[in-house]
Amino acid sequence: VIELDGVRKTYRTGAIEVDALRGVDLRISEGEYIAIMGPSGSGKSTLMNILGCLDIPTAGHYRLAGEDVARMSEDALAEIRNRRIGFVFQQFNLLPTLSAWRNVELPLCYAGTGRAQRRVRAIEALEKVGLGDRIAHRPNELSGGQQQRVAVARALVTDPALILADEPTGNLDSASTQDVLDLLGELHASGRTIVLITHEPEVAATAGRVVRIRDGGIQYDTSSDHPSDDADGPGDVGFGAVAGP
Ligand code: ATP
Ligand code: MG
Repeated sequence: VIELDGVRKTYRTGAIEVDALRGVDLRISEGEYIAIMGPSGSGKSTLMNILGCLDIPTAGHYRLAGEDVARMSEDALAEIRNRRIGFVFQQFNLLPTLSAWRNVELPLCYAGTGRAQRRVRAIEALEKVGLGDRIAHRPNELSGGQQQRVAVARALVTDPALILADEPTGNLDSASTQDVLDLLGELHASGRTIVLITHEPEVAATAGRVVRIRDGGIQYDTSSDHPSDDADGPGDVGFGAVAGP
């Protein structure tokens, strides 16, 4: 379970301060498939970086499975990032000099998995995304959609409980978009929690829950009964009871 309580993030660049998140309360249950929408600059990637333990809130609390992320050691955070979370980005973020399977095995290198195991699992992951015949291809020898499928294979190779995808279909045509959405759907069906950031309403519609962010705050959450009301409704979809101490 993921719990954000009054999360704020302020970036300071020289004399300029930007309040990218201004008090976000969000609870995501295990196994949920949630889409996050919102205009450019509204704080979506900032939120994703915090969810992925790549950055910490300026104020407020982020609890993962009941534990406050701000109090975890750097080792514990690295462990979570490397083994429990899979990341997919809009720009694929593949290393251009490495073959598909070398890219996919990278998270296993960080996790300290042995060489032979890494290769087997990387190839398995590539087969899962339909690229068993492209394992030795480099990114520039693959189409955009194939590169994103390599990135999805890399995200799932550690068998993470949580997949964070920031505009994974932003650079893809409609057929490749469907491939990536099908893969995310399968990952969700196999019990993983998926957080998908997107600009596209049709893409967001594939998620069970949609949260809209605006100016660093939650404007709308389909799992609460009323837009931007406090949680005073029944809130049946994992949004009801506020956890005790
Ligand atoms: P987009 O849809 O364009 O990707 P976004 O919703 O992901 O937008 P963020 O990247 O979260 O938006 O940015 C929110 C605000 O924080 C923006 O005003 C941006 O300029 C600022 N910001 C983001 N990252 C940093 C950073 N590392 N340092 C300083 N300011 C930042
Ligand atoms: Mg962004």
